[in-house]
Amino acid sequence: MGTDVRHAVVIGAGLAGLAAARVLADSFEAVTVIERDALPSASGPRVGVPQGHHVHALLALGAKVFEGYFPGLRAELERAGAPVWDWGEGLCAVLPNGIPEPTSMGMPIQTFSRPLLEHVLRQRVTALEPVTLRDGLIVTGLRTAGPGKVTGVRVKDGDSEDEIAADLVVDASGRSSHLPQWLAALGLPAPRTTTVDAQIGYASRIYTYPEGQTPPSWMGLLQPLRAPEFHKGCYAIQVENNTLHVTLHGAGGTQLPHTEDDFLAYAQSLPGPIASTIGSLTPLSAVRRYARTVNRKIAYHRLPRWPAGLIAMGDAVCTFNPAYGQGMTVAGLEARLLERTLRGRRAGTPLDGQVFQKQLARLTVSPWLMATIPDRAWETSRLAWPVKAGNWFLNRLIDTVPHDPKIYTAFSGLFHMTSGPLTLADPRLFSRVLVGPRAGSSGTRTTAV
Ligand SMILES: Cc1cc2nc3c(=O)[nH]c(=O)nc-3n(C[C@H](O)[C@H](O)[C@H](O)COP(=O)(O)OP(=O)(O)OC[C@H]3O[C@@H](n4cnc5c(N)ncnc54)[C@H](O)[C@@H]3O)c2cc1C
Repeated sequence: MGTDVRHAVVIGAGLAGLAAARVLADSFEAVTVIERDALPSASGPRVGVPQGHHVHALLALGAKVFEGYFPGLRAELERAGAPVWDWGEGLCAVLPNGIPEPTSMGMPIQTFSRPLLEHVLRQRVTALEPVTLRDGLIVTGLRTAGPGKVTGVRVKDGDSEDEIAADLVVDASGRSSHLPQWLAALGLPAPRTTTVDAQIGYASRIYTYPEGQTPPSWMGLLQPLRAPEFHKGCYAIQVENNTLHVTLHGAGGTQLPHTEDDFLAYAQSLPGPIASTIGSLTPLSAVRRYARTVNRKIAYHRLPRWPAGLIAMGDAVCTFNPAYGQGMTVAGLEARLLERTLRGRRAGTPLDGQVFQKQLARLTVSPWLMATIPDRAWETSRLAWPVKAGNWFLNRLIDTVPHDPKIYTAFSGLFHMTSGPLTLADPRLFSRVLVGPRAGSSGTRTTAV
């Protein structure tokens, strides 16, 4: 891989932007990350990432990818108070068909808040020699040399406007990306956008344990939604600073709590231990809500042409209903794709953005199906037969989990993306799912402490 005497600009210092900057620093002489928010010097929420108020779980595969790019990340987060635990032993999964018994899976998980992860990654990225982070600066458009070539970005700082030249521009500006409009200004047609909307809302709070009170026996609580009958659920994880981060969620337009009393009442309407847990804890934050959870993918890879000097990644291209916890992991995998693409070039040749977008579209197929097969069942009961079959199988799988430790382990691998859907092609596992939960089988609880 040859080093370019070149400059890359990354729009957005979210997870995808930081991961991209880490990779670009290996092959560009200068990398400038431009972020519209004034970034906090410590770990803390910020306006441009409103999702930071809600539970953010990094899947096992994502943790591996980020650890690869930032060696010692897990230890650093642990020093900052983020606990590490075994998924099978520490999770309380309140599933429609019961609660699986704790099972050792050898799958270490670390839980932290989104602001802490972002803070640590930001420090690591800005310590890289080629990287400069410019915050409080909004990218307002692309700088171009005709319709076929992007040569940088236009930026706004308060009232003053400027241009920053670059050989490669990476749009990692998340769900609010303006790339479709910027491409339209270059004469490109609108890319096809596909959405699947389960109309899921989030409401979250952070709690601490009063003096003398021990934290719950579980490290994470997972209570998923399922169309059409399970409209309400929750996530809770123990994170840094000895706190519990709780997100209540609801699908199909379910009204989410606004006030502190509503929050507790909503928790009390759920089976499982969440209400009894938070009832005795001390809230540290107000109720924060969020509702932009639609799955959305933009088919940039299908546009008839694509300007040189530009790529897009992260939520700017494909966003998932966050209930499946995939976004940060996919951002890490896309950075890995970017690294492979940069390494695969002949020295000195520019990156082919159109090829990159095609490969990125391929990378997102599997997580997209994982999220949208169940979510389509919230949109309509008249599903196409492959989606209906997919939902039947998924529900059967989840119903078998509390009764069968092997299926629980296989399902956890799928959920954490450490194994692909083909795991279930193993005839022994496949037949266990088809047979489904057996009456009287052991390993199930209906209550949790
Ligand atoms: C409620 C919720 C909960 C979630 N929970 C999880 C979870 O549990 N696990 C998980 O893996 N993922 C989760 N996600 C998804 C995750 O947040 C994203 O997928 C991930 O952060 C990757 O996003 P990104 O970097 O593309 O965008 P973001 O992280 O949103 O970052 C985009 C950045 O671009 C900046 N920006 C935007 N426009 C401009 C501009 N014009 N100029 C300069 N800067 C700009 C923004 O300020 C922001 O900093 C959740 C998402 C939501 C909404």
